[in-house]
Amino acid sequence: MGLQSGCKVFCVCFLLFSTAKLQAQIKVASFSTVLSEIAEKVGGKNVTVTSLIKPGQDPHEYQLTPGDLSAASASDLVLLSGKGMEATYLVNLRDALLKRVQVLAVGDQIPSLTKGADEGKEPGKEETEDPHWWNSISETEKATVVVRDAFVHLDGQHIADYQASATAYLAALRELDSWVKRKVAELPRNQRTLVTSHDAFQYFAKDYGFQIDSIEGLTTDQEPSVGHVTAIIAEIKKQGVKAIFLENTLNPKVSVEITRESGARSGGSLYADGLGPGDGETYAGMFQHNVTTIVDALK
Ligand SMILES: [Zn+2]
Repeated sequence: MGLQSGCKVFCVCFLLFSTAKLQAQIKVASFSTVLSEIAEKVGGKNVTVTSLIKPGQDPHEYQLTPGDLSAASASDLVLLSGKGMEATYLVNLRDALLKRVQVLAVGDQIPSLTKGADEGKEPGKEETEDPHWWNSISETEKATVVVRDAFVHLDGQHIADYQASATAYLAALRELDSWVKRKVAELPRNQRTLVTSHDAFQYFAKDYGFQIDSIEGLTTDQEPSVGHVTAIIAEIKKQGVKAIFLENTLNPKVSVEITRESGARSGGSLYADGLGPGDGETYAGMFQHNVTTIVDALK
């Protein structure tokens, strides 16, 4: 092969490689069911999303698998919920990725609610960030903007696509918020007390004027004390709360004791930690299920 034809082969290969590179999709690995939806909606055809945490899995108890590490290593962007949700495996994940892949803890880019030492945390312990930001539609709007900006930064070829898709998704979120406001308005303010197993609805409560009494803490692995259970029962009776919302992560003995002693009935199950199977498979479906369940049970 002469010098000239060798150069031609090289040039053609280079062009093919460049074109392939330009048309390549952004590979996203997501550790949040909500962020998987946002990435798919905003990314459209320019992005492939691998959801490492599936709808219905408990993100608090999640254990990193070797498969997750290979999927994350092969991606361009790893999306995390943030606000401490991945605390048990974040260091291992970052070590495995060796800074070759961008890791974006989306929740860390948007405002936080915190739970202080006077609210059931160990004395002297610092404030803890509440990780359940997706239970506020306005926080989810901010998360959408964070994801859009990450895509724009990674792929300058499709900026207009990302902006248009994000605008459409944000409009759908605002429409969802209007529906939630109308539905919540059916419930008088003095009936907006939400008793749940774990403390996942503070962001929701802030947006729609609810008071929260949670049996467990911010995660699903904390057993409540006898004193706390007694106080919750007294509060339910005092406020005449008609229904409470328990998860199967709660010790069944505690669930039975609270419903028996307080006289409140079980109001149904909520999607507390992101998307779930059934009608909670989409963000709008999850939110509508929660709001309908809460309002109809408390009316
Ligand atoms: Zn939770």
